[in-house]
Amino acid sequence: MEPDHEVYRTLLESTKAIPWKIDWETLTFSYIGPQIERLLGWSPESWVGIDDWAERMHPDDRERVVNFCVAQSKAGSDHEADYRALTKDGDYLWIRDVVHVMRDESGKVDSLVGFMFDISERKASEEKLLRLQKELEELSLKDGLTGVANRRMFDSILEVEWANAQRHGQPISVVMLDIDYFKQYNDEYGHLAGDDCLKAVARALEASGLRSGDLLARFGGEEFLLLLPNTDEPSAQRVAERCRQLILDQRILHARSPIGPHLSASFGVATTIPTEEMDPVELVETADCHLYRAKGRGRNCIHSPT
Ligand code: GH3
Ligand code: MG
Ligand code: MG
Repeated sequence: MEPDHEVYRTLLESTKAIPWKIDWETLTFSYIGPQIERLLGWSPESWVGIDDWAERMHPDDRERVVNFCVAQSKAGSDHEADYRALTKDGDYLWIRDVVHVMRDESGKVDSLVGFMFDISERKASEEKLLRLQKELEELSLKDGLTGVANRRMFDSILEVEWANAQRHGQPISVVMLDIDYFKQYNDEYGHLAGDDCLKAVARALEASGLRSGDLLARFGGEEFLLLLPNTDEPSAQRVAERCRQLILDQRILHARSPIGPHLSASFGVATTIPTEEMDPVELVETADCHLYRAKGRGRNCIHSPT
């Protein structure tokens, strides 16, 4: 059974993405979804030619995007472009246009069809992450001793990643670790050696193969946190295990450790798919709680809910 024309239309006009079609010869819109009016305020009838599209683009994006899209279309290549679209109220929204080039039987470009997606939320969180990254580089969010992110940075990034995970229904994990018997380490080797030890642990954790969106932070004292966006619990456990092993592999002598000749750490893992009712602080508290359990189970180990 073939869906009829009405079915296609209903489907097309009920998506959040906005469908459109441009006739290549006349460069005019032969169709644009009525949803466009809800998003940008301009009525579908007001989208006549590609000039309307170009004029309703942020002046800083216009030349780049129009040139790119025209060149790609001439070459017959499907493509996509991000730009700021002007709303009727005079604001700008980030749009991603995904364009498919249609040809006639002879292979000649006949029309362009595509979807406009509202990506303003995603852009806003990308921009916030970039801003924080820059602040980190400018030291205010860096831990003075180890050079990794400090707790303030961790809290800010957690907030952004939490909202992202919630929006996309993705898991987010936190690994908390605490060096074992560190008081005895300081007592035995002195506070300065203790500081060097913290630096060595930070270096080892940094080299643990973290992904680009992951964040390592010093939570305080001899405790570190890893924030792992889009990471489920088994993967977070594997990261923790890798880190546990890497710290042992440093072979930092710890003569007064009751559990072995070398410095070790204990780990707590927590994972969740955030919902509206949850607070990101709960995730950190859960990781802390599991860390406490790992200490209770003899240290140099990982505890997680499963
Ligand atoms: P546990 O295995 O239960 O974690 O025992 P612990 O001795 O590691 O834990 P405790 O919390 O009793 O001691 C933490 C120690 O870490 C005490 C403190 O002096 C030391 N410490 C915290 N921050 C620093 C730091 O910046 N430099 C140095 N050298 N030591 C620190
Ligand atoms: Mg501690
Ligand atoms: Mg400790």
